Amino acid sequence: MIQRVKGFRDILPDEAETWRQVENTAVGLLQDFGFSEIRLPVLEKAELFQRSIGAHTDIVEKEMYTFPTSKGEMLTLRPEATASVVRAYIEQKLYAKDPVQKLYTLGPMFRRERPQKGRYRQFYQINAEAFGMESPCIDAQMIFLLWTFFEKLSVPGLTVCINSLGCPACRPRFKEALTGLLAEKSKDLCADCLRRRDKNPLRVLDCKVPSCRAALADAPAMIDYLCEDCDRHFKTVLSLLEKQTIPFRIDPRLVRGLDYYTRTAFEIQTEQLGAQNAVAGGGRYDGLVEALGGPKQPAIGFAIGADRLVELMLQQRRPPGPVPDVFIAPMGDQAIEKAYAWSCALAVLGFRTEADFENKSLKAMMKRADRIGALQVLIVGEEELAEGAVILRNMKTKQQASIPINGLVDHVKRLLMRPSEIKTG
Ligand code: ATP
Ligand code: MG
Repeated sequence: MIQRVKGFRDILPDEAETWRQVENTAVGLLQDFGFSEIRLPVLEKAELFQRSIGAHTDIVEKEMYTFPTSKGEMLTLRPEATASVVRAYIEQKLYAKDPVQKLYTLGPMFRRERPQKGRYRQFYQINAEAFGMESPCIDAQMIFLLWTFFEKLSVPGLTVCINSLGCPACRPRFKEALTGLLAEKSKDLCADCLRRRDKNPLRVLDCKVPSCRAALADAPAMIDYLCEDCDRHFKTVLSLLEKQTIPFRIDPRLVRGLDYYTRTAFEIQTEQLGAQNAVAGGGRYDGLVEALGGPKQPAIGFAIGADRLVELMLQQRRPPGPVPDVFIAPMGDQAIEKAYAWSCALAVLGFRTEADFENKSLKAMMKRADRIGALQVLIVGEEELAEGAVILRNMKTKQQASIPINGLVDHVKRLLMRPSEIKTG
């Protein structure tokens, strides 16, 4: 037997319903907030991610699926979507049409991480990116949008964590203060953090190793080092969220796993998924468009981790799978031919239809109809064909009705329609 690749998974029909609900809710809300869909390739040049995410991040150092083409060009399965959206914004000159672009995209991301619950090598994100707007209103609105999304899906127990990472004007001073502390605490840091200390000190704040966390218990906080502009921006975001009564917690340790963030950074966390506690994350990246060769345009975005969100929802409630409105049980070749035509016609009319064409016994077909939860069963054999009427059996009430074969689809249609549908015609 050939098995699937480690860290990659199958999403089976009993979960797919919840995935669809998550995606539909997100798309509806994003469109209401003025976002348009963009569809992007999953394969990009490796350089795109090296330059945007940052060379000394976990993703670029060890998690990317990168391979050479026959010509020796390095390609990467995208580990995240922001870099690709920015690439398209620049390459397709979307900014020339209107620098303000609000884009969303859904799809798989790939990271070679250690697979565990809530952490897969192919996982799915819902991404939103807003270009060309500097106002703190957009920062607040992105967070408000996320919050509303989770509310619509009735996901309980979430917290918004927020921080400001400053800008190139104020971050160096903070880095200096942090590096000073890291030098003092060297002996308490894990091997990863010792490496980060020299190459990317901010990332040490994100380390989950308890001894590192303890060593940095009183690390300086970026929000105490913000320049006047960044400070004003951050305070406005917080005050907008307060007015909308969105519960948030300022987390001075929140630095996010990618280098391109500036100013507002945020995460939506849950207590209900163990160590994998972030269900969405995002932030501002005002320098990235220019750094990748585009015009100087500010931007902000977020990514929702759909796998973890679906897991949270399934913990709450496992929705019953879809059931057939009608199951057609024919006996004999002539009846099967009729069943074939009726099943096509009823499906086209929008009824979830199932028919058995395998010439099985009535008992076997009724057993299957019952097992898959069919609401009604249409029974047709030689006898019914001769009499010109078939039997429609309601599987719940066990009531049976005789339906004339002449104009059968119309008769069944009327019987299957729910009362509300009949009223509206
Ligand atoms: P984490 O700290 O949990 O590793 P991250 O900072 O690496 O998250 P982001 O790059 O911000 O994650 O991606 C946004 C969201 O995508 C995360 O909040 C999470 O829900 C989800 N996510 C990230 N990596 C994975 C993964 N390997 N498997 C499943 N979901 C993931
Ligand atoms: Mg990660």
